Amino acid sequence: MQTLTHWIGGERLDGDRHLDVTNPASAEVIGRVPLADTATVERAIDAARAAQPAWRDTPPAKRAQVMFRFKMLLERDADELCALVAREHGKVLEDAMGELKRGIENVEYACGVPELLKGEYSHNAGPGIDTWSNHQPLGIVAGITPFNFPAMVPLWMYPMAIACGNAFILKPSEQVPSAALKMAELLEEAGLPAGLFQVVHGDREAVEALIDAPEVKALSFVGSTPVAKSIYRRGADNGKRVQALGGAKNHAVVLPDADLDNAASTLIGAAFGSAGERCMAISVAVCVGDATADALVAKVGEQARTLKIGPGTETGLDMGALINAAHRDKVAGYIEQGKAAGAELVVDGRQHPLVQESPGYFLGATLFDRVTPEMGIYRDEIFGPVLCVVRVETFEAAIALINAHQYGNGTCVFTRDGEAARRFSDAIEVGMVGINVPLPVPVAFHSFGGWKESLFGDLHAYGPDAVRFYTRRKAVSQRWPAQNLREQAQLNFPSS
Ligand code: NAD
Repeated sequence: MQTLTHWIGGERLDGDRHLDVTNPASAEVIGRVPLADTATVERAIDAARAAQPAWRDTPPAKRAQVMFRFKMLLERDADELCALVAREHGKVLEDAMGELKRGIENVEYACGVPELLKGEYSHNAGPGIDTWSNHQPLGIVAGITPFNFPAMVPLWMYPMAIACGNAFILKPSEQVPSAALKMAELLEEAGLPAGLFQVVHGDREAVEALIDAPEVKALSFVGSTPVAKSIYRRGADNGKRVQALGGAKNHAVVLPDADLDNAASTLIGAAFGSAGERCMAISVAVCVGDATADALVAKVGEQARTLKIGPGTETGLDMGALINAAHRDKVAGYIEQGKAAGAELVVDGRQHPLVQESPGYFLGATLFDRVTPEMGIYRDEIFGPVLCVVRVETFEAAIALINAHQYGNGTCVFTRDGEAARRFSDAIEVGMVGINVPLPVPVAFHSFGGWKESLFGDLHAYGPDAVRFYTRRKAVSQRWPAQNLREQAQLNFPSS
């Protein structure tokens, strides 16, 4: 049983209100986390305010040095970090390592901050006038993150925010609090001064305190769509810069010319990896033509039945437990609902032996065929190991189906036809597109973001957009007139 704390001004701090932290694979309570009140959030803001001015004036190359050391420390302690993630989240260790590695990419990108902040310069923008634009930090910024990527999603945010000269306050998911604390320890060891990265655990009260605090200039949120929307609105009312990434329903289109063996096995990974608790998980396969659907359902069904499921902390498994009992029951409820609505239940994850035998929150892989667009299992984000197959007659119908969906995070197409792939990537109203790539999560030197109900705000997460999100531009025009030059007053708008 571990007692967790906030990390404020470089010190550990407890609180009055607490929440149990549970191991989803055993249903055992393994720790307790404090939930911050407004006063605790204000304490973190005070510490950030004290630390940020000197950090702002620290040369970017020196700030980058901290990130270089941080990357090495993350790699040194990767096994420990992944064990914390697997224990609290339930995902398997190898998957936790994958998320950590993708997170570390963002630290590597932040190491290039001297280059990224260089700005733009025009000599003789006007007569004897030079103009330059640069990016200055915002001051204090905050991030609110979901349970499903305890290491990676915070790493999308704070390395770049801090490298740009800001102080960052992280409010991680209260269900998976330990990875954030471990990362705070490593940043301290890397030489980051106290107050520049802080961890405030909590729920809605802590989040609202961050949104309402005038000192917090920008908020990065990743989580479900209803919360993303409310945070975006409240942040905008407070005059804040907000990027709020929400939920998803990601479709894979399978064309008749696709390599179906390959499509089936990569779909298995994209649909059931991390028990489907990924915002980029493929949860709908749109098969063009009945022959394509029949073949794909047979191949996916066969493999889905053989997935190895168990406690994420053990090695050699494919899938771990879901995050908590309520969520597992909600996903199981969707399976019942889909069956009642008339979809064909090809593989029923509720029949997996662990569902009965283990006290943990397990559910096997589930496959539905003949799902139709009006069904709840098609419309809603289920966020579990459930793959729905929708049958359409034409490629155009597949594109129209995806474009009509309220979410637009990720999508992919399986085909050997370059023209069809190009048309798909051009016409599809989704932010991240894969062509024979089922999980098109951009690398750290591009940016990540969906469209429609999957993102509120304009700038995407990490990559080049993060530099713009965590800084504000300043354009300076400068002239040094010759001595004794006396200019006529000019009342017309100056132009060259
Ligand atoms: P969630 O919305 O329940 O919680 C996200 C964060 O918001 C947590 O830190 C939580 O404490 C806080 N929160 C919850 N309710 C709140 C409220 N009423 N007011 C203020 N703050 C609140 O999401 P989750 O269940 O932790 O994560 C799963 C969701 O996140 C899924 O919908 C998934 O698609 C989404 N997600 C999206 C992306 C993306 O990049 N678009 C990435 C990962 C996860």
